[in-house]
Amino acid sequence: MLSYNQSNMNKSKFINSFLTANIYYKKYSRNYRRLILLNILLYVTVFMLGVFALVNAFKVQDYIVAGMDTLVCLSLIYAIIDIHKHKRLNRAINIFVTILFLFLLSFSLVNQNESNGLVWTVFFPLVTILLMNRNKALSLVTLFYFMLFFFAFEGIGSWQNGNWDLVSFLRFVAASTTLTYVVYFMEYSHELSENQLELVRIKEEEGMRSLKELSIKDALTQLYNRRHLNEVFDREFKTAQRHNYYFGFFILDIDYFKQYNDAYGHQKGDEALCSLADVLKTRMRRSEDFIFRLGGEEFCGICVSEDKSKITAQLKVLLHAIESLHIEHSGSSISKVLTVSIGVKIIHDFDEYGFDRLYKEADEALYKAKHEGRNRIVF
Ligand code: GH3
Ligand code: MG
Ligand code: MG
Repeated sequence: MLSYNQSNMNKSKFINSFLTANIYYKKYSRNYRRLILLNILLYVTVFMLGVFALVNAFKVQDYIVAGMDTLVCLSLIYAIIDIHKHKRLNRAINIFVTILFLFLLSFSLVNQNESNGLVWTVFFPLVTILLMNRNKALSLVTLFYFMLFFFAFEGIGSWQNGNWDLVSFLRFVAASTTLTYVVYFMEYSHELSENQLELVRIKEEEGMRSLKELSIKDALTQLYNRRHLNEVFDREFKTAQRHNYYFGFFILDIDYFKQYNDAYGHQKGDEALCSLADVLKTRMRRSEDFIFRLGGEEFCGICVSEDKSKITAQLKVLLHAIESLHIEHSGSSISKVLTVSIGVKIIHDFDEYGFDRLYKEADEALYKAKHEGRNRIVF
């Protein structure tokens, strides 16, 4: 037996598929509204025409109108089947509008405003403008009224058993064109405000994105900052573990940077930091590589590879690339140019490690690199 929740879910699923034919549009978008409107119109019209067909056939015994009702009812049932099967909204709309066009015109001709039957024609501009492209709809509505007004004009003196006069005709023309105008401009302004809303939404999204960028990037070097490290670390650690790759974590520190600042000034120090950051960015470009500025002249990075020696080689290249920048450093007692020391920990045994332990061991390796004379990597 289905539980209450389950049966409720099935019910809403059924209603949803009934209304949307399982076509997926963003909720409350124009297409979504058109889809729901079309489906409801199809069901309502089929029901109404079915009833009219029966009434006309058995009660009024107007067999021509009953036949037309039946024909259109069947065509609309075809449109319902078509939209559920082919899931093409525009095609279904075209079918519906075409049927409505032909039906309302021929019905008006046959019915000749008997029992105010012309009132049904107001649905044509309404439905067409709401369902189709606004301007295409307007052309179609113009064509529709051009023909209808012509028939109605010709019918003066004969329609409605001779009661359809010029005043009736003019009243009909005025009401129909006013209604068309109102619907057209309502839809137009709706579209305008929707576009405006969409613009605001896009701007907001852009704002959020740049805010997010700002919050995860270091202002001086444009490298990711420490805050972002925590986020990336967990994700990359899990991915590497899943693929059974080697996971390398390193800490990089500029050698004698205090002396650099003292010798060349803080401004030059900042420039050196930026040049170094550029090298780090270009050398750590693979999608498995990440580099962060921890603060000051200290950076850290993540390198993932299925081959341990690739990580080692990559870091050696990095060390040399920084030295090859040839940034003069007269205050350094180990080189004429700016150098860095790197402490690395590469793991394969993920269960034994977490961020804290990896960080600690990479830091210890860095400490060792400094003590062993700097400008080197200690694994
Ligand atoms: P070691 O080789 O042992 O790392 O020596 P060091 O001088 O690089 O290390 P220390 O930690 O003593 O000094 C780091 C210096 O980095 C101190 C500070 O003047 C400089 N520094 C930190 N952040 C910045 C920055 O944003 N810009 C500049 N220009 N200098 C910075
Ligand atoms: Mg340093
Ligand atoms: Mg330092």
